[in-house]
Amino acid sequence: MLDYNASVLLIYTGGTIGMTEDLNTGALKSFDFDYLKGHVPELNRLKFNIDNIQFRHPIDSSDMGPDEWKTIVRIIENNYEKYDGFVILQGTDTMAYSASALSFMLENLSKPVILTGSQLPIGKIRTDGKENLITALEIAVDKNPEGEAFVPEVCIFFQNLLMRGNRTTKINAANFKAFNSLNFPIIAEAGTYIRYKHELIRRPFKGSKPEFHYLLDTNVAIIKLFPGISTETLKAIITIPHLKGIVLETYGAGNAPSENWFLDIIEEGVMKGIVTVNVTQCASGSVEMERYHAGKTLKNIGVLSGYDITTEAAVTKLMFLFGNGLSSKEVKEQMILSLAGEITMYHELVY
Ligand code: ASP
Repeated sequence: MLDYNASVLLIYTGGTIGMTEDLNTGALKSFDFDYLKGHVPELNRLKFNIDNIQFRHPIDSSDMGPDEWKTIVRIIENNYEKYDGFVILQGTDTMAYSASALSFMLENLSKPVILTGSQLPIGKIRTDGKENLITALEIAVDKNPEGEAFVPEVCIFFQNLLMRGNRTTKINAANFKAFNSLNFPIIAEAGTYIRYKHELIRRPFKGSKPEFHYLLDTNVAIIKLFPGISTETLKAIITIPHLKGIVLETYGAGNAPSENWFLDIIEEGVMKGIVTVNVTQCASGSVEMERYHAGKTLKNIGVLSGYDITTEAAVTKLMFLFGNGLSSKEVKEQMILSLAGEITMYHELVY
């Protein structure tokens, strides 16, 4: 049910959706929000209020990171009571990382936070941006008859699909269907109607207040295995000063080389207290370290299973947990739990 007295805050950070062509080079560069609004006159026909706030300098999402995520959290905290929902416009390239980080930084949400953007700038006739933006805004004010938001979660809406943010991955650099949620079902689909799968949507604990978190620790790394990875490469990463966490992208169900030099280096890191999380390189499926000897040896030296978490969610979760001052032992305990729906716990298996 659309609430016509509702108000949405649209946070414009940059990205293709608001870009124009640089006349000299032909490359796309960010423009400002008024330009974007000028190309979507439909915004004036929506029956609820839309206010906007924009980054002083809109950016390509390749430049997004912890500082920008903190700015977004600050904007949402400062405006939380005033608005029914929030829509964030950002570039698609790092949107899955932003959505994952925000899902941990915005705890106990009772209001929607929907990220969207586009593959073609809003000024192009065939743009996908209009549809993405307008539907994201509608989702941000959609409520049940009791006046509660349908989707009090951090989500990405793209090409008719509403996905839990920390389950998404950018899967295509050119298609309009740029994102997917491969280990968790789509939580709503927009056609003639927006069909929500209410049973999949997270809800805040009754009576709980939102909590806004700002502390992130970037002493983390991602190692993607490949046949031929060298001792030097691995050793160089493990010995980075102050490194606290590693997302180890392994093969298949969580398998890695069984050679001693490899296992010794990984173990050296674990013994130093580096929390090492096993995540599969496959687009979908889960790590099962008991399935093959090559996975079991990793488990035996203290590598944690990331189960079906995405790399984007795993690396931002490590930043979040270490940022909040947790010890390696505490981080390990939290990494195997679902904090914001980023891991499928067995009792939640719905597909
Ligand atoms: N390079 C752009 C960005 O991520 C791509 C996009 O917006 O889709 O900002």
